[in-house]
Amino acid sequence: MAKIAINIATGSLQQEEMIVGIDLGTTNSLVAIIHPETKQPIALKEHNSSSLVPSVIHFDEAGNVVVGEEAKKQLISQPQNTIFSAKRLMGKSYNDIKANASFFSYKVIDDNTESLVKVQVGNKFYSPIDLSSFILKELKQRAEHILKTPVNKAVITVPAYFNDAQRQATRDAGKLAGLDVLRIVNEPTAASLAYGLGAPSNSPKGGEENPPKEKTIAVYDLGGGTFDVSILKIANGVFEVLSTNGDTYLGGDDMDKAIVHYWLAQAGLTEDELSGNREFAQAIRLKAEEAKIHLSSNDHFSTALNGDILTITKITFEQLVQPLVDKTIACCANALKDAELKKSGIDVIVMVGGSTRVPLVKQSVSEFFGKPVNDSVNPDEVVALGAAIQADILAGNNKQVLLLDVTPLSLGIETMGGLMDVLIPRNSKIPGKAARQYTTQKDGQGSMRISVFQGERDMVKDNRRLAEFNLTGIPGMPAGMAKVEVSFLINADGILSVRAKELRSGVEQSIEVKPQYGLTDAELETMLLDSIAHAKDDIALRALVEARTEGEQLLSTTEKFVNKNAALLAKEELMNTAAAMQALQLSLTLEDKDLIHTKIEELNNISRPYAERIMDQAIAVAMKGRMV
Ligand code: ADP
Ligand code: MG
Repeated sequence: MAKIAINIATGSLQQEEMIVGIDLGTTNSLVAIIHPETKQPIALKEHNSSSLVPSVIHFDEAGNVVVGEEAKKQLISQPQNTIFSAKRLMGKSYNDIKANASFFSYKVIDDNTESLVKVQVGNKFYSPIDLSSFILKELKQRAEHILKTPVNKAVITVPAYFNDAQRQATRDAGKLAGLDVLRIVNEPTAASLAYGLGAPSNSPKGGEENPPKEKTIAVYDLGGGTFDVSILKIANGVFEVLSTNGDTYLGGDDMDKAIVHYWLAQAGLTEDELSGNREFAQAIRLKAEEAKIHLSSNDHFSTALNGDILTITKITFEQLVQPLVDKTIACCANALKDAELKKSGIDVIVMVGGSTRVPLVKQSVSEFFGKPVNDSVNPDEVVALGAAIQADILAGNNKQVLLLDVTPLSLGIETMGGLMDVLIPRNSKIPGKAARQYTTQKDGQGSMRISVFQGERDMVKDNRRLAEFNLTGIPGMPAGMAKVEVSFLINADGILSVRAKELRSGVEQSIEVKPQYGLTDAELETMLLDSIAHAKDDIALRALVEARTEGEQLLSTTEKFVNKNAALLAKEELMNTAAAMQALQLSLTLEDKDLIHTKIEELNNISRPYAERIMDQAIAVAMKGRMV
């Protein structure tokens, strides 16, 4: 994409309100718009400067907040007052980031709890939302300065793996910065839009005259702090995300960290050296990044730090980062699997994020898919450019492109025995909805607890609880008579609304799911891996739970029946029933589903003859009554 220095006559912008696209990155952030004349997306920048604004916030002595390149310069001299990678703290507790605490050279409040983290600067405390809002405010001001028009509306991108809480936090940060956030868009989705693949009238690349055939695209985004891979299908101007996978804690920062560790080991120093000396930690971190970038186009790097010479070769660097690259490749394999595709099913591979400039990354991704990768659009800008295209769609200027997204994890409710009943499977298209009917377990049951879970395991205890509420006011009726419809609705931002309605009486209750705080990284990663690893166990456990539930229900109905009809039963029938009930009861405490089924069958065999007899009598009585 040609770089166009912005020089827009103020007049041409005034008729319409500007909606900008913002890539709020861990490392770098930027703003893009659709150029009013060329109709092409462009990243905003002042003359002779970069479009990238480092996502670094510095608090100076006078209490001013400085964001961007100037703030980045303070990283070494004033590490306590200079915040980087704030995005990694979005929606996180201290426990979530504990393992990486030494990475942050500023003060993250270490309360060892599950509540949301705060950063302390001097005697002030800032939430990650506050910190992100400072970056967004800076971006807004820059855009207004360049465009000479107020900027109040934006589309902001987030990693595909961001959960509801993190998306909501991003939205809140926008609001704090004075921006109306019209849409939160997944970064890989935005990148695919920027490539214009398959969008007939908006294709800066292809320029195809005929309606383009269907294309399947893998978007590989390795930035400073996050990794995403998405498989997209594009046909007739419709973008459909088939699957997403990734790791919210994997990126160029980790490559820097690997180099730091290598240098420390070389010098015979330990991790303590870092926590004990903030300035040194920061300085060596920046040197490591410099080395990494240098090694993208050279074979050897050397520099001086505090009189010591630090060196590293490209070969060593590649050995250090190979495990990180392997992790991303494993994610690619998972994404393919979820999309039910083979490698050969991918037509185009799109590279996104500054870290994809590392030759080993490009090479490994290309080897994995067995095709050359596509990196023609600047990997630093491509997400923001896509956000600008999305903004243009929302402004109603671009009707050729439609956007469908997917849920990264399954959504469902808890049913009897702690089982997960999935209403919306993972990788379902959003916006979307689903509904299912449930009933009461007990006679006269006046309320029903609806517990909403997210995850892939069969037992809810292994998944993540999103919300819980009681549907109350169900009128008294026998067990099994109530018809409670639970419906799930996910809007375009991935926010879930859950409604429960008793259809006979019309009582209803609903809830919007915006959890207080999101999944930990470990949880998110292990949830998907666990679901694969435990698939067999889960099936066995589900069968056991279902057998137990069936057994309990049979015990309860048999007991009711016998109590009501004891007078009509022979003594032997009563005794046999009691013995069979006891045997079934006992089997429920064991872990043997086959035994439970045997005992269910035995109890049924004993009760069936007299139950039928009594039913026949009852019918006969009823018929007689009617005839009289
Ligand atoms: P984010 O989306 O997380 O803000 P970016 O896409 O801006 O990240 O990528 C930033 C990362 O890219 C940083 O870790 C930076 O060091 C890395 N990077 C930038 N240029 C290069 C390069 N030439 N070689 C290797 N890594 C690079
Ligand atoms: Mg990025």
